[in-house]
Amino acid sequence: MKKHLSKKNIRVLRTVVRKYIRMRDNNCCCMCLKPVSGRNSQISHMHPKETYKHLEFDEYNLVLMCFRCHKRVWHLDPIIGCEWFKKEYPREYEYLEKHRYDVVEFTNEDLKELIDMYTNKLNYGFD
Ligand SMILES: [Zn+2]
Repeated sequence: MKKHLSKKNIRVLRTVVRKYIRMRDNNCCCMCLKPVSGRNSQISHMHPKETYKHLEFDEYNLVLMCFRCHKRVWHLDPIIGCEWFKKEYPREYEYLEKHRYDVVEFTNEDLKELIDMYTNKLNYGFD
C-alpha cells in the first residue's frame, strides 16, 4: 500500500529547497550569470520532476535560472540545454546519469530528513 505523504511536509521541503538553491547559486542565473530576483528567479530541474520524482528535491538536479534561460533555452531547446549542463556541471551530470532510474518512494520520514538537511545547509552554509 502506498504511504500517504504529508502535503505540509512537501510544501515546507519545496520552500526550503528553493531558498537553499538561491543561496547556493548566489541569486544569479547559472546560464547567463545575471542576477535574478522575484519571478525572474526560477528553480530549474535538469531532469523533469514529473518523470523523475525522486530527483525533485535533489540539489544536483537543480539550478537557478532567469525566466529567459529557463523557458527560452532550457525548455525550448533541451539539446542545447543538456550540452550546456554536461559541460558546466560534469560532476552533477555524471551523478544524475547514475541515479536517474533509481526507484525511490519517499516516506514522510525521508521528507523530514530532507527538510532538516536543507535547513542546516541554509543556517550553517556549506563548503
Ligand atoms: Zn539567464
